[in-house]
Amino acid sequence: MTPVGQSYLLFQLQRIDSQGDSVLQRIQELDTRLADRDAEAAADHDAQAHQESLHEQQRELRDLELQLGSVQEKLTTEERRLYAGRGAPRSQLESLHQEVESLQGRVTELEDAVLVAMEAVEEAAAAAAAAAQRAAAAQAAGAQNREALGREKEEVEAQLRQLQRDRSAITAQLAPVSTALYDRLRQQAGGIAVAEVTQGRCQGCRLTLPSHTIQQARQADRLQQCPTCRRVLYIAL
Ligand SMILES: [Zn+2]
Repeated sequence: MTPVGQSYLLFQLQRIDSQGDSVLQRIQELDTRLADRDAEAAADHDAQAHQESLHEQQRELRDLELQLGSVQEKLTTEERRLYAGRGAPRSQLESLHQEVESLQGRVTELEDAVLVAMEAVEEAAAAAAAAAQRAAAAQAAGAQNREALGREKEEVEAQLRQLQRDRSAITAQLAPVSTALYDRLRQQAGGIAVAEVTQGRCQGCRLTLPSHTIQQARQADRLQQCPTCRRVLYIAL
């Protein structure tokens, strides 16, 4: 294996690893989006709040209906007493009459309140149904979204496995010392260990290389590094 061959192989390795880096980043993004249930949680929360509000309105209606029932019962009793007590003293009859009138007023008030409460229950029920529908739609959309993300993740993971196979094929041909240098530089130089030389410039740091460095990169019997950014230089033949 000639040194030029080694720099070429390292350049190939770099391309594979850079692709691998973006594939890994994409997998991370997909995992984050797969775990994101904020929209569904918000819709669920909203549906629950509407459901609670409906129950509250239903309780109020029931209370009013119970009150109305008991006042109506009392009114019936007092009316009977008034009817039965026609021969009673005038003052007693007057007081009974007042009581009946007051109860009648209370019945009218409660009947109105029941009607208002019934409307409120209807409105709350409609709002709760709509919120439940929105929550179900959010769940369905979330599930569909996750299915698409899951498919993409499978594809991306298959790409990653292919890159790993390609990588093994290349590293099998590299000298351990080249691999070690590559690994060290990749850690130190932001993931890019190999820089191509084009138009006399190192594409890693974009600086113009001394001509003797370029010559050595072409001819040297060992890997040549950029004097500025230390990356291994690769010159396409
Ligand atoms: Zn450089």
